[in-house]
Amino acid sequence: VKSIAVLTSGGDSQGMNAAVRSVVRSALYHGLEVHAVQRGYLGLITDDIRPMDLRSVGDIIQRGGTILQTARCKEFMTLEGQQKGAENLRKRGIDGIVVIGGDGSYQGASKLSQQGIRTMALPGTIDNDIPFTDFTIGFDTAVSIVVDAINKLRDTMTSHERASVVEVMGRHCGDIALYAGLASGAEAILVPEVPYDMDRIAARMKENFEHGKRHSIIVVAEGVGKGDDIARELTERTDMDPRVTVLGHIQRGGSPTHNDRILASRLGDYAVRQLLAGDSGKALGIVKGELTATPIDEVIGAKKPFNKELYDLTLRLSQ
Ligand code: ATP
Repeated sequence: VKSIAVLTSGGDSQGMNAAVRSVVRSALYHGLEVHAVQRGYLGLITDDIRPMDLRSVGDIIQRGGTILQTARCKEFMTLEGQQKGAENLRKRGIDGIVVIGGDGSYQGASKLSQQGIRTMALPGTIDNDIPFTDFTIGFDTAVSIVVDAINKLRDTMTSHERASVVEVMGRHCGDIALYAGLASGAEAILVPEVPYDMDRIAARMKENFEHGKRHSIIVVAEGVGKGDDIARELTERTDMDPRVTVLGHIQRGGSPTHNDRILASRLGDYAVRQLLAGDSGKALGIVKGELTATPIDEVIGAKKPFNKELYDLTLRLSQ
């Protein structure tokens, strides 16, 4: 490869900018030309592609969102759209690309590599729902935001001796709820991977209150249900009157943590080195501290294993 491109796609996440910066700077370091595609796959089709230099990624490592913007693009799901995208790259002499996004974006990346463009996919999503990497870019920041919010809620909940239900992101993967719940000392953590028993949760909360507990926090991943519904189920079984907080898109914003910046920096540079080595069609990750490259199609077909060890720990500690 002599010339590569980078794009961000799907939902944005904190650290995408750090990944873009890493791809651009590493490519230039290795003597490659590097381009940015604006608005994900949409920009590939509309030919919204521009050359990048060292300074075009200055002052972005600390910023949330993505300077390349992102879009959902239906047209790229068609063969014609994919061919058009690949053609727009080829006519500029670009023969490699780094796609930063979630599982949908991985499917697009797989299609692009089938069109003969050397492709690397990086996990950019707050949900941590991509297998073959321990963490996705943005997850660590999202968890810290939730923990920070729960710290604040705890102050006021303790003053009023109230229970609090906090709804967090995670449609199929409960990792944000799990990690943030564990880190903030939640009393119950509801994740899509494990069925919950409200009778048991309510009974335990009642007992804990009788034994002097003065705050109760239930963290619920959106994939389990709405915070309001969980609060109603609790009210039906206890005399608690829980307050509901839906954190929503706040979880996707803000400056990335050092963990996310480092993860993004390592993966961006690794993607460039893999392309230089002639590799293609790989999804990159870090597993137990080691950089890994797995065929994208294998990653698309797999489900992220649930961290049962952490979940069981939360059960032992939430008394
Ligand atoms: P998040 O997990 O944060 O929602 P995502 O990457 O999964 O991010 P999607 O909207 O699912 O977000 O996908 C992003 C884009 O990837 C889509 O808008 C589309 O352009 C492309 N894409 C998704 N699925 C396919 C597919 N099967 N074939 C080609 N392109 C696809």
